[in-house]
Amino acid sequence: MDALARSLADTGLPHPLLVDAARAAIADGGPEEVGQRARRHARAAARSLLQPVINATGVLLHTNLGRSPLAVAADAAYTNLELDISSGRRGSRHGHAAALVARLCEAEDAIVVNNGASAVLLALAALAAGRGVAVSRGELVEIGGGFRVPEVMEQSGARLVEVGTTNRTRLADFTSVADDPANDIVLALKVHQSNYRIVGFTEHVTVGEMASLSVPVVADIGSGLVDSACPWLEDGPPAWLAGEPAARQTLAAGAALVTFSGDKLFGGPQAGVIAGRADLVGRCARHPLARAMRPGSLVLSAFQQVALAYLRRDGQAIEFWRMASLAADELERRAHAVVAESGVGEVAEVASVPGGGTLPGTEIGSCGVVVAGDWTAALRAGTPPVIARVGDNRTWLDLRTVAAGDDRYVVAALRGLP
Ligand SMILES: *Cc1c(COP(=O)(O)O)cnc(C)c1O
Repeated sequence: MDALARSLADTGLPHPLLVDAARAAIADGGPEEVGQRARRHARAAARSLLQPVINATGVLLHTNLGRSPLAVAADAAYTNLELDISSGRRGSRHGHAAALVARLCEAEDAIVVNNGASAVLLALAALAAGRGVAVSRGELVEIGGGFRVPEVMEQSGARLVEVGTTNRTRLADFTSVADDPANDIVLALKVHQSNYRIVGFTEHVTVGEMASLSVPVVADIGSGLVDSACPWLEDGPPAWLAGEPAARQTLAAGAALVTFSGDKLFGGPQAGVIAGRADLVGRCARHPLARAMRPGSLVLSAFQQVALAYLRRDGQAIEFWRMASLAADELERRAHAVVAESGVGEVAEVASVPGGGTLPGTEIGSCGVVVAGDWTAALRAGTPPVIARVGDNRTWLDLRTVAAGDDRYVVAALRGLP
């Protein structure tokens, strides 16, 4: 067993994992020679490790591929995570990244937690445990991955009070529920229907209208668009963003708090934000769950880097926005080069999508390469793996989500096709 494991040392895996591969090869028998079987197990172990992949799907925020792309390079170093450098006293871990995101959204205060789901759970637990929260029936949604508003509400200890109907909810519905003392309503929650739309005979209550209620409004905008004017993009907001709620405008319209993800349209690391009224953010920060949901300095420094890029109005420094705003003719030029260099496939117009459960049905015109047949498994088998899409028994590679410097990997993967 040991000799077999040692024979795999060139794979670069640590010895204990090679022993596991050798053991599995001996156990599973089969027609191949045992050394070959062990190598196959070792290769599978290496492929199961977290590693960079080339996203040629055109889905900008692909949950399977880690949502927004992010460059992280950090040497081993201490940070002033909870140190106030000026005074030398204990500081707050909400003093850097969170302070910047508050500035971005023009909020009095903000905290950063581990993801969007924890932001909602914490806000409800801190502000409404044991009390009533009014939510429109049309917004009792499942976002995906088990995030269902009624279940999150139950976990928070808050009591869900449904308002209106699935397709139509009016302000008067909210007022009558909120004004009935038996309901003990302390919050109204608005949830963005991130991944679906109700169309036809519908009526919604806006945050602005809800702001007239006697209780604070928490708006879970989910996607994390910071400002609908997109001042970080030279040409302003792209057409495909139309109608997406933004943190700054939602607060300005009267929401007491907004919650959103760090790795959707914000383009940062996996994180969640609660921003808005200082007293309410403070109650969230002091709740015991906040401790269980706090990110470490790695996430906070990545988040801070993105927040600073927004404040500099430098969308090109935020990989998601850089890719999302690439011009189609530039992508077409790259697609011609990939086809010419690989000698495989044809240039094709394709449609990228924002993804990540945001903006359903939205397409962004793009360009890439199409190859007859389904080659997705062969493309995944290379290093780095190239992830493509299949449709009409053809393989589609969208270059919008491929960093320009990575086109050479796409060329190499296409050349390597049998
Ligand atoms: C995505 C989303 C969430 C969950 O956020 P995660 O960062 O995935 O935990 C919650 N609410 C809404 C409206 C969302 O779109």
